[in-house]
Amino acid sequence: MSSLWIKNGRVIDPASRHDAQGDVFIADGKFVKSLTAAQKKSARVLDAAGLVVCPGLVDIHVHFREPGQTHKETILTGAQAAAAGGFTTVVCMPNTSPPVDNAGTIQLINAAAAKAPVRVYPTGCITVGMKAEQLAPHGTLKNAGAVALTDDGLCVQSNELMRRAAEYSKMFDLPLLDHCQDESMTKGAVMNEGVVSTRLGLKGWPHAAEDIIVARNIILSAYSGAHIHMQHISSARSVELMRRAKQDGIRVTAEATPHHIALTDEALATYDTNFKMNPPLRTEADRRAIIAGLKDGTLDCIGTDHAPHTPDEKDREFDYAPNGILGLETALAVCLDVLVRQNKFKLPAVIDLMTRRAADVLKLPAGTLAPGANADVCVFAPDEQWTYDATKGFSKSRNSPWHGQKLTGRVRTTIVGGKIVYANGKLV
Ligand SMILES: [Zn+2]
Repeated sequence: MSSLWIKNGRVIDPASRHDAQGDVFIADGKFVKSLTAAQKKSARVLDAAGLVVCPGLVDIHVHFREPGQTHKETILTGAQAAAAGGFTTVVCMPNTSPPVDNAGTIQLINAAAAKAPVRVYPTGCITVGMKAEQLAPHGTLKNAGAVALTDDGLCVQSNELMRRAAEYSKMFDLPLLDHCQDESMTKGAVMNEGVVSTRLGLKGWPHAAEDIIVARNIILSAYSGAHIHMQHISSARSVELMRRAKQDGIRVTAEATPHHIALTDEALATYDTNFKMNPPLRTEADRRAIIAGLKDGTLDCIGTDHAPHTPDEKDREFDYAPNGILGLETALAVCLDVLVRQNKFKLPAVIDLMTRRAADVLKLPAGTLAPGANADVCVFAPDEQWTYDATKGFSKSRNSPWHGQKLTGRVRTTIVGGKIVYANGKLV
């Protein structure tokens, strides 16, 4: 029976409103109030002086590309990148090849997840093959282990089908995660529609295409009582719609990505495809509104939308490059920078957005240091400066806008179920 004693850190556990210098004790994979004298004697001791000790980070939006696109990422390499980024629980999207619309594919993911260094939860598709023609077997997907349903990457366009999905998923208490995009308004679009897209001569996608679906989902949630979660909110109007929906007590939640709070469409001036994602980077006003939404609780959590693509795929003309960027290894540093240093969030509030509140959206057993909980921990140096080198990252891919950038705040140790899985730049 193994014990771990994390000493002298700044222990932050937003779930129990705890923020104080102290120790964290772990026995047999769970947090405990204290260790017995005998356990203390044999415990492994981790000195956390000068470091923050918080619950392992939780990301409810990652793409691990397995099955079918394992040249970009596998569940193992994705989970390794997660561990390096301080994440101990991640939820992977079902837009693999084939898409995750049946129990067999979930079993395959669960088998790979069992060998991964962090906890990996699968989601299932809303519709068969993500074709938006008929509903996937939601109950079977839940029984196989899906924690939510989504056609992420695509958005169910038919209001009628989405209504049926809301009613059906509610019977199984499975949230719908929606990538909010009216595709009739975004044909051929590769970036935000606005002054910058006009200047660059690139086809834009208007934020209205997101807002319309966010509004649709709010209406359907109110109508059906189903929990609908809006993925990667990118527009100020969408934030405002969410604010009103929450005031009205409607069962909706939403996430924001690190890139939408850090960057704007101005970053596309060089046509660097590492700034191409969907939904696209938008304006400074949108960026500010998303940050305000995170501050006042309108938006529930941070989700990275970690989306690996190979250099060959990304290194093409802007119009043809795939959407998406890596996120797991840089998320904490980016959020500390944008939210704590630039926007005066309290550190526990940011940790809350990346732990308990993310876990709460999908009712995952994670996000707290409370005794009895799974001993998942992130230990980080909040002020340590480092340069992120995507070529030396743990993801199989390299597509990050933060490659070569100086970041502040670095993960030192990641612990899953009481076991150290990552320490000082190396997987354990
Ligand atoms: Zn998406």
